Amino acid sequence: MAEKAAAINSIRTVGNWINGKQVGSSSERYGDVFDSATGELCARVVMSIESDVDAAVAVAQEAFKSWSMTPVLRRARTMFKLKELIERDRAEIAALIAQEHGKVLHDADGSIQRGIEVVEFACGIPHLIKGEFSDQVGTGVDTYSMRQPLGVCVGITPFNFPAMVPMWMFPMAIACGNTFVLKPSEKDPGCSLKWAELMQEAGVPDGVFNVVQGDQVAVNALLTDERVAAVSFVGSTPVAEHVYATASAHGKRVQALGGAKNHLVVMPDADMEKAADALVGAGYGSAGERCMAISAIVAVGDSAEPLLEKLLPKIAALKIGPGSDNNNDMGPLITAEHRDKVRAYIDIGEKEGASLLVDGRKHDICASPGYFVGPTLFDHASKEMRVYQEEIFGPVLTMVRVDTFEEAVALVNEHEYGNGTSIFTRDGDAAREFANNIQVGMVGVNVPIPAPLRIPVGHLDVTVFNRV
Ligand code: NAD
Repeated sequence: MAEKAAAINSIRTVGNWINGKQVGSSSERYGDVFDSATGELCARVVMSIESDVDAAVAVAQEAFKSWSMTPVLRRARTMFKLKELIERDRAEIAALIAQEHGKVLHDADGSIQRGIEVVEFACGIPHLIKGEFSDQVGTGVDTYSMRQPLGVCVGITPFNFPAMVPMWMFPMAIACGNTFVLKPSEKDPGCSLKWAELMQEAGVPDGVFNVVQGDQVAVNALLTDERVAAVSFVGSTPVAEHVYATASAHGKRVQALGGAKNHLVVMPDADMEKAADALVGAGYGSAGERCMAISAIVAVGDSAEPLLEKLLPKIAALKIGPGSDNNNDMGPLITAEHRDKVRAYIDIGEKEGASLLVDGRKHDICASPGYFVGPTLFDHASKEMRVYQEEIFGPVLTMVRVDTFEEAVALVNEHEYGNGTSIFTRDGDAAREFANNIQVGMVGVNVPIPAPLRIPVGHLDVTVFNRV
């Protein structure tokens, strides 16, 4: 007993970051953070309550007075410095992601790179934030418009990209002259404090960037706080709907991105080698815990058999293991609970009658103590099946066979989610028709994950709720 208490005391505690320093919470509640490759406790995170949120928002509101008046060139300079610091520390940050989230180091590093690209974009804020001027709109009357910061902005982020998704939000918000409160996922909160330290080192004044750890208690306090001007959320669809409804009812600007189920359509004329490579990377990379993961394959005409011929050996060759080993292709899932949920979906798919070609529940890695599920492949699924309809968020690919291109397009368009989709074909007409007729936010041709940067990320259906 005493040993257990001593071990817990030696485990790092992830606190809040308010006004330039790490602080505890007034709450006695802690969440456990696990090393997903071993199942061992690696940190404890404070679970904030209303008074913590109140303190963070108060300092952010105070800091807004001077930060919003800081010359834009000086604000941009902090972003240049931030980029340099993230590049300096990226190996350390990747290791933290590999431990808490489970991504393999090269994948974690890739996600940091995507975040850095947003910081680079924010470096251009003096140009991006320019207003407009029209002279002589009436006799002797000129008009001009300015882009002004909003005030205290809030970011609420999911577990699957603990570095990148917060970086979608705070660099731009802060470069624009806003102040920020981040509420990261309680499952892998470590990166949030690293951002706080680097922002401070980059010269961002205390109070401009704050972190409140915790769960829905902290989220709900942020959504209803009248001093918060805008909320950016990324997470699951039910929570996105809640965030959107609550924050907009409290008069805030809101963008809320929800869950996803993305299709990859394979035409009979596709380069099957490339399609199979794309499916392995986009289906099983990051253990399928990506909003832009491909989780549904639509095999058109007689494409299924030649595709499987290429795909099955690639799945068998995947190396699964701890994210800290860069030789691995795929790591564990985030928690034991999530692993069990993914396994339960494989049970469901079997009961529903889909053909289970590769069973991730039986992979050797499942004997290890981490939260592993091996890559899984269903064939002959039908559109009514839950394994096809629902977001599993794990390494499970589900193939539906259809006869025609038109059926494939209808299938993708009818699906509840509308985040991204891709087609593999050598036919330029088919590619163009696909891009023009598909009702999904991001569309790719012969690429695995069509996730563009620096242009608005498009989502449709239950993947996005907007009030901006
Ligand atoms: P989640 O919805 O469970 O949690 C997201 C955030 O909301 C966390 O910070 C969490 O603490 C908070 N939260 C959870 N339950 C809440 C509640 N009842 N009330 C208020 N706040 C609550 O999502 P997750 O499991 O962390 O992340 C995975 C989900 O995120 C997947 O559905 C994935 O598709 C989605 N996602 C979407 C995108 C996108 O761009 N559309 C990107 C990344 C992840």
